Amino acid sequence: MTRRGWCRTALSPSHLPGLDYSLNPYKGCAHNCVYCYAPPLLHMDRNRWPDVEARINIPQVLRREVKAKKPGIVGLSTVTDPYQPAEKKFELTRKCLPLLLKRGFSANVQTKSDLVLRDRDLLGSSDRVAVGITITTLDEDLSNALEPGAPPPHRRLQAVKALAEAGIYTYVFWGPLLPSLDEESLPAYVEAFASHGAREIMVDMLRMCKVTTASNFEDAKKLLETQNFDLAVLDIMGVDGYGLLAIANRKKIPAVMLTAHAFNPPNLVKSIKEGAAAYLPKEEISNIADFLNDVLVAKATGKNPWGAWQDRLPSSFFDKRWGAAWRDTDKEFWETFRKSLKERTSQN
Ligand code: SF4
Repeated sequence: MTRRGWCRTALSPSHLPGLDYSLNPYKGCAHNCVYCYAPPLLHMDRNRWPDVEARINIPQVLRREVKAKKPGIVGLSTVTDPYQPAEKKFELTRKCLPLLLKRGFSANVQTKSDLVLRDRDLLGSSDRVAVGITITTLDEDLSNALEPGAPPPHRRLQAVKALAEAGIYTYVFWGPLLPSLDEESLPAYVEAFASHGAREIMVDMLRMCKVTTASNFEDAKKLLETQNFDLAVLDIMGVDGYGLLAIANRKKIPAVMLTAHAFNPPNLVKSIKEGAAAYLPKEEISNIADFLNDVLVAKATGKNPWGAWQDRLPSSFFDKRWGAAWRDTDKEFWETFRKSLKERTSQN
């Protein structure tokens, strides 16, 4: 499903290496790769990621911006695929490319789709263009399972060849590297990419995390005191979560409070007051990856993690469970909390 949307800005500053700006004509991506980390980064529900929004006025906005902004390298796209199926109809990437090139900007296009071949004329018209074709695996069945909406690997390899033959600087973005990839098959991959004309191979690792668990307070205390963690998930009732939260705070480890039996307003208030980074009922366990990602992003960017938490669990979520007056016993606290989030947002 694709809907029409509008944007106010076309070029955003990029913090990715080698790119000055990012340009995303679409929000969401129908390729729907299971490992895609864009939805949590954008605070979007993963299930809604394939419902794509086409920013239909982006060429008009870009036309204005390229006159005012300093030329630089533009990544297309940085959080979605610029040649996903919606591009066939809307041609937003196609309309943006000449606007950039005419004004001295360079374009670094990255896609999993051979639809990019449609624009060979434009891409080949300037030596300020590089095209990266993302290939995760050459195993067609595995690709179908992991990247259900994207063209199969053999079509992507053919796209590398056709682009290279058209004289376009073409590279393979090999990633994310899957744990199932055995060492013996690595040379065959490199050979396949090089023989199809890739000038460069960029490798990206799969984002994974190591999980360490403890089933009682003493074990958890020992782990927190003796090891370094990016994040701790603490059960409030089962293992004296607040006792562990104090240790996590001392060690500057952001902590997420998870609970089934202590899901009530006083424990939410206590979690915030005692320095936790989020408070989750166990029914949200299936979305925990998104919540944890929010906390890590907030830590990395110096933002208040409760802002993202509130976006995912709005008041209506708690109203339904605790009744509309659940804040009344701590009115002053909630007023201060709301203000602190607002101030923090305006500073950011
Ligand atoms: S192609 Fe890229 S943006 Fe689209 S779902 Fe896959 S990983 Fe996400």
